[in-house]
Amino acid sequence: MEQKRTELSQLGEFGLIERIKNNFSLQNPTSLKGIGDDAAVINAGTENLLVSTDMLLEGIHFDLSYMPLQHLGYKAVAVNVSDIAAMNGKPEQIVISLGLSNRFSLEAVDALYEGIKTACKNYGVDLVGGDTTSSPTGLVISITVMGRAAKDKTVLRGGAKANDIICVTGDLGAAFLGLQVLEREKEVFKSNPKMQPDLEKYEYLVGRQLKPEARMDIVHELAEKNIVPTSMIDVSDGLASELFHLGKNSNVGIKIFEDKIPIDSQTYDTAIEFKIDPTTTALNGGEDYELLFTINPTDFEKLKNHPDIHFIGHTHDNAKQNVMISKQGTVVPLQAQGWKHF
Ligand code: ADP
Ligand code: MG
Repeated sequence: MEQKRTELSQLGEFGLIERIKNNFSLQNPTSLKGIGDDAAVINAGTENLLVSTDMLLEGIHFDLSYMPLQHLGYKAVAVNVSDIAAMNGKPEQIVISLGLSNRFSLEAVDALYEGIKTACKNYGVDLVGGDTTSSPTGLVISITVMGRAAKDKTVLRGGAKANDIICVTGDLGAAFLGLQVLEREKEVFKSNPKMQPDLEKYEYLVGRQLKPEARMDIVHELAEKNIVPTSMIDVSDGLASELFHLGKNSNVGIKIFEDKIPIDSQTYDTAIEFKIDPTTTALNGGEDYELLFTINPTDFEKLKNHPDIHFIGHTHDNAKQNVMISKQGTVVPLQAQGWKHF
């Protein structure tokens, strides 16, 4: 008899994670929050311990022909720290697992760890362990980060109430376009190795792709202003997906305004050059590692003049309705994109 076979692409990333989650129940009272947030939340006495892991694979998440190993090391740490930031926590330790093939020299590993070290210094985290193994060809880096947050300041994806204000930091879509630029230059270089890549015009975009930062600065500023977001997530997959996660987990609907989405002018111009709608790069691009969060409207006064926090819309009580009001004033349903890797 033929065995049943279901393609993973049928479920998609979110469907697969949902399925895994539903097959497991938590047994320990210390496991406060399991699968389904940016980090797990573990009761560690007076505070919460936060744990998150992210893996980067050569050929999927990075291409060493344009990703210098130093940057890769930095980015691998930054994307992990970003998940702790998304819990309103402070990162403290990382462990690193490496898969290496004989393609990599000691100098290459040194360069990778140079970037890791810089990130550890910048974010104040300690490298406390890991694992090293051989890999048939590609480079694999898996980092697990541990952090801490006060019990009453730990922020989940699921805490937004109707009529909270939706905020996003920085600007969106640049990292995605940086990748498009790098891919294009790689093709040009492959067809004519004498051609030097012309990246000056795209410096900001390429920097956003190669050197992302976790927004720990925002976490510290929120604490200084005594603001605890009602919900929060980091923008790793694109604004649309992250809005869906906040809405679904909080059981609220989302309404955002296209003209409020922060897009840098270089992002805008380059999107047009690539014949992509600039808004689409923000909604579906990903890898921005900005923070998306909701606040109680009573906190708006304290944040309204912040130069790097943008108010893009609000939540409402119809959890089934996630919409964007376009620049023309039309109502556009938001589409969750999710996974590109399968
Ligand atoms: P993020 O984009 O913030 O890193 P993910 O979308 O990767 O989050 O993961 C969402 C949730 O699913 C997290 O709680 C994560 O720990 C969990 N998760 C992802 N993959 C697996 C897996 N293979 N097994 C168990 N849990 C997983
Ligand atoms: Mg995340």
